Formats: sequence, C-alpha cells, structure tokens
Amino acid sequence: MRQPLVAGNWKLNGSKQSISQLLEGILGGIQDVKKAEVAVCPPSVYLQQVTDILKDSPVQWGGQNVSEHASGAYTGEVAAAMLVEFGCKYTIIGHSERRAIFGETDEQIVQKFAALKKAGIVPILCVGELLEEREAGKTEVVVGRQIDAVLNVAGIEQFENAVIAYEPVWAIGTGMTATPAQAQDVHAFIRQRLAEKDSKIADGIQILYGGSVKPDNAEELFAQTDIDGGLIGGASLDAAGFMSICRAAN
Ligand code: PEP
Repeated sequence: MRQPLVAGNWKLNGSKQSISQLLEGILGGIQDVKKAEVAVCPPSVYLQQVTDILKDSPVQWGGQNVSEHASGAYTGEVAAAMLVEFGCKYTIIGHSERRAIFGETDEQIVQKFAALKKAGIVPILCVGELLEEREAGKTEVVVGRQIDAVLNVAGIEQFENAVIAYEPVWAIGTGMTATPAQAQDVHAFIRQRLAEKDSKIADGIQILYGGSVKPDNAEELFAQTDIDGGLIGGASLDAAGFMSICRAAN
C-alpha cells in the first residue's frame, strides 16, 4: 500500500515570523493526520529555522530546487549536499515555474534528479502540460516526454525512492483544478509508463496531484486510485487549510 504524501511548496513566500506561526499551526494539527506523511518545502534560507522547529516531529521538509552541480562557480545555486546538511528528505525538481520562468530543460532536470539521488534525497519530479497542449490533445505526449527524459537516462531503478507530481500548468495558482477524473487519467498514464519498465516500482511510487488543491476539493482528488496525495502551493501557506488538506489524505 502506498502511503499518501502531502507536501507544501511555499515558493517565494515567508518570513522568519510567518514561518514560525505556520509551523506552529502545522504541529498543532499533525496528530490528526494519521495516515499521510506531511512535508514542507520552504525557501532554502529558512531551512535551518524549519529544521530547528520540526526536528522532533513527524513532519518532513525539503528544498524547492537543487543545482545540477556539486560545487563551484554557480552563483545563487544550492547543491544537493547542502540540502542534506539541513536534513532535507525531499526536494522538488522540474516545477513548471522553474521550467517556464527560469528556462530549465528536461536535460537539466535529469541532472538534478541524478544529483538528488546521489545525495540520498527523494526527488519530487514535477511534470505537467500547458493549457494549449491539453486542448490540442497532447497531454500524454508532453507528460510522457517529461517522464521519459528522466526514465531513459536515470533508469527505472532510480524511481524506487522518488515521487512524481502531476501538475497541469493551467491549474497551478489559477484556481482551475483538474477534475478528479482528468487527474486520475494522467496519473494512471504515468504509472503505466513506469510499469512498462518495472511493475513493482510503478505500483509503489507515490504520484501526487498539484494544481489549486484546496480543502474543499482535496478529498475527491485524493480518493482517486492513482492519486497518492498532493503538492500544494498557495493553500499550504495557511496552516488550518493545509492541515485540512492533509487530513483529506487520511
Ligand atoms: C505548486 O506550485 O506546486 C502548486 C500546486 O500551486 P497551487 O497549489 O497554488 O496551484
């Protein structure tokens, strides 16, 4: 049985004070989250603060991005080994904002995936199509290409300790959620793609849905057979709402 996972992507939000409050709210409600694992991904400058507050709790944490390089002259980057030093269990890679705003390519994402695996961090590999791609009937072509880019280089074995997040780009931060059936179709497609290489790994991998998940739509989404929890952006910044989403994954 796959354990559900609900991960908060805080993006470029927070301050020392707001993060203390948010974590206090999360810790205050975590005892009601019986089944799902909960994780938060703060901006990396706050990882020490998050580590200090969460270290004796069941809540996990991770980075929002990682450099494909191990060290050197890469101003502004954060290496996988640095995330390890701050106790990160997870790290998001391939988020559509990284792909669209910062021009990250499939090739770079493959290297980031490898850097995380080498460091022992679980990658949360984001994939998803643009609205025009969905409307053109190309969802599976795009998502298949994004998955294959990593699969064909890293190999299926590397997915044993990895998480995939299906995030239709048109649903991120827009309030337009994929219907549970639309999301389930793509999740099943992704699992099938992996099953063609190894059915045991495909069965075990957690595939999260992301894109305007809110307390009032989480339960129906998480009830789908191939949806194993969520990657939550905007709604993860409010402790009460986030905990309600986490409980929906129970
Ligand atoms: C995200 O950024 O990963 C995300 C899913 O954002 P939102 O929940 O705000 O749509």
